[in-house]
Amino acid sequence: MSRLTILEFPDPRLRRVARPVDAVSDRERKLAADMLETMYDARGIGLAATQVNEGVRLLVLDLSETRDDPKVFINPEITERVGSQTCEEGCLSVPGVYAEVDRAERIRVRSLGLDGEPFELDADGLLAVCIQHEIDHLDGKVFVDYLSPLKRRMVEKRLKKQKQRDNEPVA
Ligand code: ZN
Repeated sequence: MSRLTILEFPDPRLRRVARPVDAVSDRERKLAADMLETMYDARGIGLAATQVNEGVRLLVLDLSETRDDPKVFINPEITERVGSQTCEEGCLSVPGVYAEVDRAERIRVRSLGLDGEPFELDADGLLAVCIQHEIDHLDGKVFVDYLSPLKRRMVEKRLKKQKQRDNEPVA
């Protein structure tokens, strides 16, 4: 397994719409394993292929406290949305930024698993939020898109400053 580089907002590659996987093969299984390693290493709870510059509809997540319950979704589709909830979200591609976003409270998801078999899942709470957040990535969307233009500009400025600081030589 190998750790992958996570793209950071406002990288234009985060805007690409991912294509469906035709058939689940070893290529997808290797990508999912690498993405899980990358996600665990970054202490994230979810990661979409778009974030590691892979243009396929694949996402991984693990909401367990023990970090031993990985879930992989290939070609996930939300077939039902019920209610609404507001949750503070963060994103491995937007480091250090947290903001409240409105999402559906409950969703039904249809997806393929790593074995290529279809499955359906009913999700609510944080799991529903996480799946909606990651599917957004596959559609080229980032959670800061839901913020007001003013707030989004503040986020962009803050990230730019952060980056400049990171690049300053330490002596
Ligand atoms: Zn994200």
